[in-house]
Amino acid sequence: MNIVFSDEFRASLKKHSSIKEAVRKKVDMIIASPISLGEPLKGNLRGYYSCPVRRNFLIIFLYCSICRKKGDDSIVLCDDCQECTDDTLKFILLGPHDKTYWG
Ligand SMILES: [Zn+2]
Repeated sequence: MNIVFSDEFRASLKKHSSIKEAVRKKVDMIIASPISLGEPLKGNLRGYYSCPVRRNFLIIFLYCSICRKKGDDSIVLCDDCQECTDDTLKFILLGPHDKTYWG
């Protein structure tokens, strides 16, 4: 598994340091089974997956084996999708539920 964390994700984790441990645990769980834990997003965010941390925090991630298969890589901001291996897991965003839908 090739794990990638975006700059935004890292910055947000630093900002919300109080939930750092919860996020770390959830990230480990997502790495173990990205497909069963991810909730597929729709509309503008098609191709992305979300997973809640605590009650109102969301982790937004991409799993390249899926985004490519569905052709979502042409829609989502998975810039270097073609250069990533199939098992690339990208952690894109972390934030409060109402602010995470940045589109
Ligand atoms: Zn991709």
